[in-house]
Amino acid sequence: MEYQNLKGTHDVILKEAQDYQFIVDLMSDVCRLFSYKLFKVPVIENANLFQRGVGESSDIVRKEMYTFLDKGERLISLRPEFTASIIRSFVNNKLYANSNLPIKAYYHGPVFRYERPQLGRYRQFDQFGVEILGTDSLYFDAEAIILGYTILKQFGLENVKLKINSLGDEESRTSYRNALKEYFSQYIDNMCDDCKQRFKLNPLRILDCKVDTDKEIVRAAPKMSDYLSKDSKIRFKHLKEILDENYIPYEVDDTLVRGLDYYSQTVFEFHYVSKKGFDYGAIGAGGHYSNLINELGGPNLQGVGFSFGIERIYSILKDDELIPNPEYSIDIYVAAIDESANLSAFNVSNLLRMHGFVCDSDYQFHKPSSAIKIALKKQAHYVIFIGEDEINNNQLTIKNLTNQTQDIVKYDDLILYFSEQLEDDHEEN
Ligand code: AMP
Repeated sequence: MEYQNLKGTHDVILKEAQDYQFIVDLMSDVCRLFSYKLFKVPVIENANLFQRGVGESSDIVRKEMYTFLDKGERLISLRPEFTASIIRSFVNNKLYANSNLPIKAYYHGPVFRYERPQLGRYRQFDQFGVEILGTDSLYFDAEAIILGYTILKQFGLENVKLKINSLGDEESRTSYRNALKEYFSQYIDNMCDDCKQRFKLNPLRILDCKVDTDKEIVRAAPKMSDYLSKDSKIRFKHLKEILDENYIPYEVDDTLVRGLDYYSQTVFEFHYVSKKGFDYGAIGAGGHYSNLINELGGPNLQGVGFSFGIERIYSILKDDELIPNPEYSIDIYVAAIDESANLSAFNVSNLLRMHGFVCDSDYQFHKPSSAIKIALKKQAHYVIFIGEDEINNNQLTIKNLTNQTQDIVKYDDLILYFSEQLEDDHEEN
């Protein structure tokens, strides 16, 4: 029987894995530029961390969590997102006692959601994100947005659309929730089953509904901006000023409420339409949270964060031909051109690797012509031929595959030879 990967999961292998690494490396570099520290947190947590953290009214908690009893009868979930775990770690490790708040964390890794798999939507996918913990300063909302925007610009993406909105403070959200409740009460019979639930639990979520979102009733619903408290309005105005002053283009989207329960004040999403016109929707999203740290057992501190979906970023980079790195090349391919030379091929390969040269061999006999073909396929810069003559004379035949020249080099001079050659090559590049 052949085993298949589970529905909604995918293998990331070979060139694609290298490209994922390129994405994570670039994002990590930008995070370090902004002075963020890497956090690695467990994939499994107590289920109630997410129930509390992500929110009972969210689709994630209601329908999408991978939750099970472990052998010790504990209710465990695979993480459906990172924010709750990062905050748990911030609280557990008492990082809030640090005199230099905020703590600025970045993270990446797999998350799990039992969604209906479709194009660009998986059950296991990778996220990369940041959390800034222990501050209510608006500057950090702006910093998070600009960090995300900088990452996308560094990839060379041109059509990034940044959508922002304010959900206001507690007071604003309570009056908005009441207004929505009153408004939707007339229409709720015509809405999808999920929205009927959302109406009871948190009517803001109706604005997020994938089924009802295009309906006129949703479009004509009361707008958050009309219910913002004076303070929240000022905060949002300042945020827009900071973005303007730093030349970050954005668009205010009054319907943006985000699928998670914990956001307050600033929320934002990055959207993308590829050069060919394919609309990828949200490729990254986040916002400010006022109460989450406290709700998860920490002190009364605030934070802000966002995350990108790596699969979506990979797709858009591929679509727009922005993955710059060619497939891995190697410095040297080592070929045994006599049956008796397999051991020498092994020993020479090992010697080269010990001196830091990227080198490959299958330690088997090949005719010179087929060895060259293999070397070219592996994008090697040099091929070393080892046959009986070479062994008897304590030397090696080395072909430069770029300019087709060939040298005979004494075994003892091998490392010096490549040190000079590859240094020259790097200078030429
Ligand atoms: P969220 O945590 O829901 O705000 O999602 C953050 C980002 O993760 C989204 O903008 C997407 O890029 C990505 N994402 C969310 N759900 C999925 C999924 N099921 N498959 C792939 N990527 C996803």
